[in-house]
Amino acid sequence: MTDLHRLSIRELSEGLAGSKFSSRELTEHYLKRIAKIDAQVQSYVTVTPEQALAQADAADALRQSGMANVLTGVPIAHKDIFCTHGIKTTAGSKMLDNFISPYDATVVAKGKVAGLVTLGKVNMDEFAMGSTSESSYFGATKNPWALDHVPGGSSGGSAAAVAADLAPFATGTDTGGSIRQPASFCGLTGLKPTYGRVSRFGMIAYASSLDQGGPMARSAEDCAYLMNVMAGHDDRDSTSVNVAADDYVANLNSTSVKGLRIGIPKQYFNVAGLDADVKARVEESLKKLEEMGATLVEIDLNMTDAYVPTYYLIAPAEASSNLQRFDGVRYGYRCENPVDLTDLYKRSRSEGFGPEVQRRILIGTYALSAGYYDAYYVKAQKVRRLIQQDFLKAFESVDVIAAPSAPTTAYKIGASLDPVEMYLGDIYTIAVNLAGLPAINAPVGFDKDQLPVGLQLIGNYWSESQLLSVVHQYQQATDWHTKRAAIAEETV
Ligand code: GLN
Repeated sequence: MTDLHRLSIRELSEGLAGSKFSSRELTEHYLKRIAKIDAQVQSYVTVTPEQALAQADAADALRQSGMANVLTGVPIAHKDIFCTHGIKTTAGSKMLDNFISPYDATVVAKGKVAGLVTLGKVNMDEFAMGSTSESSYFGATKNPWALDHVPGGSSGGSAAAVAADLAPFATGTDTGGSIRQPASFCGLTGLKPTYGRVSRFGMIAYASSLDQGGPMARSAEDCAYLMNVMAGHDDRDSTSVNVAADDYVANLNSTSVKGLRIGIPKQYFNVAGLDADVKARVEESLKKLEEMGATLVEIDLNMTDAYVPTYYLIAPAEASSNLQRFDGVRYGYRCENPVDLTDLYKRSRSEGFGPEVQRRILIGTYALSAGYYDAYYVKAQKVRRLIQQDFLKAFESVDVIAAPSAPTTAYKIGASLDPVEMYLGDIYTIAVNLAGLPAINAPVGFDKDQLPVGLQLIGNYWSESQLLSVVHQYQQATDWHTKRAAIAEETV
């Protein structure tokens, strides 16, 4: 079969169960596509054909013996921020270019238990800092819709791999938008779960109080299958919540769009820099939801102006602390011929970290230093609480909140945004992480250059099923999520 890459996760599961094709055939098909197409997209940092085929054979044997799970034998790509036993895990950094993880992240381990086949590790901004995937030490990933554009970031490799049909779905992580924004730029569905829903064990930390892993795929249905694997309590992550996860696939029709109250934040649609096409597509999608029975309710989110400064204090502060462990001593990059210990630290870190990571370490260290801690860090934490309260107040009168996922479509590669300009592009996503809420991106059309536009729906705590369900119903009534970039149509 030459079109296995066009099948949804449900179709893959059914095809494997019905012996229409084997996991080996499916895995070989994806490996062939990667070998032929990924040179143009550069979504993978590491491809693992031997392990993948061994896992595929094991999956086929399990199928034969009648012991298979729903996803046994389905391939996946993991963002290179999830530790994978025996396989290089780089976080997009020179610092970890030589790091072979001795253990699996919980998300990866759960994938193995579910029978998923790991095709390889996909590219990302260095330590997940960025919105373009250009800050990766391994070079920029390309947007499958226009190869001279970025796929977004930091989970740009995950998004590009799925959008080019080089993996049926992928894991991502979202600290301030890194699942939703690349999903938006690449025309995919991506879910950032409630903080604590998915284990962070073995997920290399950027900003621990904001980081959350989640699924990236073509549709809400595909995301639901991966959420069923990723979600759940983990004793090894003290911030993982001890509440049973839903069956997200079974719940795909649990929420009706009929009667759904969708909040439209006044402040969000008047942001300077909101592209006219993005605004138009998002408004059209809301109109469609209205036709399907939803009510649009104007709401106030008064703290909007505080999002970017608050996030860009807290995230770098936590990053500066988390990244102290990369000291050239225990693991990771070590400089040549250090003259003493200080020289070893200094040069290992200066040579091992790229400029954006160093910038954030400097900002974070400054904000946490004795003289400025109260003025910056403590203040930012207080504002963070106000941002959270703003959302909770809104959820008293609406079920979900709608927003664009990003003010623009994908940037050109090398558009050389200055750092502050880049940070401003995160306006619609970062508050969700500051508040710990779940949110989803769904593709809702294209701009004048045929680049995808995304709608974001933000839910109250633990409303993943509701978000997936609403998007699932939107996707039953529309076909934006089925559109494929020309490069994904290439056969091998
Ligand atoms: N663009 C944001 C940042 O650079 C978000 C990144 C992320 O979610 N990992 O911090």
